[in-house]
Amino acid sequence: MIYNTVQQEIAGKIEMDSGVSNWKNWRWQLKHCIRSIEQFEYLTGINFSEEEKEGLKKTFERFPLSVTPYYLSLIDRENYENDPVFKQAFGSMQELVTVQSELKDPLSEERDSPVEGITHRYPDRVLFHVSNICSMYCRHCTRKRKVGDIDYIPSKKQLSKGIKYISDAPQIRDVLLSGGDPLMMPDHKIDWLLSEIRKIPHVEIIRIGTRMPVVLPYRITDELVEMMKKYHPLWINTHFNHPREITASSREALSKLADGGFPLGNQSVLLADINDCPRIIKALVHKLVKNRVRPYYLYQCDLSEGLSHFRTPIGKGIEIMESLVGHTSGLARPTYVIDAPGGGGKIPIMPNYIISWSTNKVVLRNYEGVITTYKEPDRYEPRMCDRDCENCKLELNLNEYDESKAIGIEKLLADSSDVISLIPEDTERMQRREEHAGQD
Ligand SMILES: *Cc1c(COP(=O)(O)O)cnc(C)c1O
Repeated sequence: MIYNTVQQEIAGKIEMDSGVSNWKNWRWQLKHCIRSIEQFEYLTGINFSEEEKEGLKKTFERFPLSVTPYYLSLIDRENYENDPVFKQAFGSMQELVTVQSELKDPLSEERDSPVEGITHRYPDRVLFHVSNICSMYCRHCTRKRKVGDIDYIPSKKQLSKGIKYISDAPQIRDVLLSGGDPLMMPDHKIDWLLSEIRKIPHVEIIRIGTRMPVVLPYRITDELVEMMKKYHPLWINTHFNHPREITASSREALSKLADGGFPLGNQSVLLADINDCPRIIKALVHKLVKNRVRPYYLYQCDLSEGLSHFRTPIGKGIEIMESLVGHTSGLARPTYVIDAPGGGGKIPIMPNYIISWSTNKVVLRNYEGVITTYKEPDRYEPRMCDRDCENCKLELNLNEYDESKAIGIEKLLADSSDVISLIPEDTERMQRREEHAGQD
């Protein structure tokens, strides 16, 4: 047993007798999620003024509150106003402030949705929203518009529409289960869903995005792991934002998952006054790799409504990346990304390492500020690529790889394409051209 005294106290207050013995039961945790200010005050001993309560009530009417007893137990009561766990779990009136650039659906997930539950943005992979609920409502949720909307898990019939869409689209080789939290579903439903997706021959990998190891680590049971093992290759991405969240319980959950053979990744969000500090992020990524979790993405906070107080300038993210590259293991380094508003997808951001160029030399700098040169090869015979792979000297096993179309910048670079520029359709210049054409 690894309860601490705070956990014992909270468990006892929730349910005199069975609280403590049920602490590690995830269903018990779910049933007793903290959803009101009064309950929060009672369980933590933190008290708000009447005025604060008024404001918080308004906030929770718009964006509801839900915290697992476990995550609640991590709050530092003595210093809750600065506590990263408190700030992620418990709202503030600032959520009601919306600024002009903020959007309900900044990533246009709904516009890129061909059928209910699916966001199809990239050529070869889809996001499949398989649950509408979470155990904890992160205050910084990018899908804040949906939080607490209608708490439900889609029926098999509803999920079947998404499964059919994937099954009818042979280019989809990667299915990312998201939500809400997919692990809010009961085991038998996850079992069913994974088995249906696994039946689709062109799906190579399945990924699950879940915050359970952070907010409800007891959800990672031996039974769940045994069941999910049937569906390898299955990748799991979780969402730690601060080293304080990596507790004995979450380490145990991560270790079960890693032992089950699931490659583990982590997606953090850069959050003002929570983790916008190179030392905090470095401590976090070190703790993650120690627990066999590969830092995958560090997200710039999205432009969702009610998140302005969490946003940092992009410069903060670049400063953090500067403090990681070279200074620590490449394995511990996430890719810093901005999810482009309007649905453009994730754009990676890095400090600049190329300083200058000539025809035969590149000038680079390293993390220490050393400036160095790389001499280009004297002889390099560019191979004109006309995409005639059968007659190319390089070997490509065509049985395994389908021809893929070059799009975007890749197309500009391709020898096989005549396209020399990408031009927005609605510029005045383009409109004038069209008008001229009409006059001819
Ligand atoms: C993030 C995301 C993915 C997965 O992107 P990766 O860069 O492959 O991790 C897929 N679809 C949508 C809509 C996404 O937002």
